[in-house]
Amino acid sequence: MVEPDLILITHDHFDHVDEELASLVEGTDAIIVAQPEVVGKLGETGIPEDNFIFGMGMNIGGTVEEKGVEVRMVQAFHSAECGAPAGYLITTGDGTTIYHAGDTGAFPGMKMLGEMYDIDVALLPIGSVFVMDPQQAAWALTALEPEMAVPMHYGTFPILVQDAGEFVRLADEQAPGVDVQALQPGESLKL
Ligand SMILES: [Zn+2]
Repeated sequence: MVEPDLILITHDHFDHVDEELASLVEGTDAIIVAQPEVVGKLGETGIPEDNFIFGMGMNIGGTVEEKGVEVRMVQAFHSAECGAPAGYLITTGDGTTIYHAGDTGAFPGMKMLGEMYDIDVALLPIGSVFVMDPQQAAWALTALEPEMAVPMHYGTFPILVQDAGEFVRLADEQAPGVDVQALQPGESLKL
């Protein structure tokens, strides 16, 4: 298994983080980025303090440089058991900026992110029910103005949107300049 360097927690819902995280980071120097409330909860599963950013977590608005990448925690519009849902902007050593929206509905702050940051790749949920639907995600492209978009959070539960077809179609209509890459499970994307 690949040893993790950085683990960015968007929120504490069971389909995003659970007690298996402890075994994933055991014996590694992986850094977990999460909010203090979530760090408190995960700490109870036996994860040592050293594996958390600053030992205690960080919050929305914060930027840290870890393992050669810059990580910004930003707003997301969703719910959580503790802490507040978040998204991340990740800037790699070569200046590529990736926006991971987390679980979120569309929100006006996406326009702000699009204005403040030069986003290369946007990872956007499109599955509806718990997150943006394809129409909202297509709007998000017009707000964020990324070069490339990767749809996520669909097809995993029967009640979610089952494929990326409608998002691909709406994105092509509303944000034709964006290169949409709908990946298959297990497929990877080299930037
Ligand atoms: Zn969630």
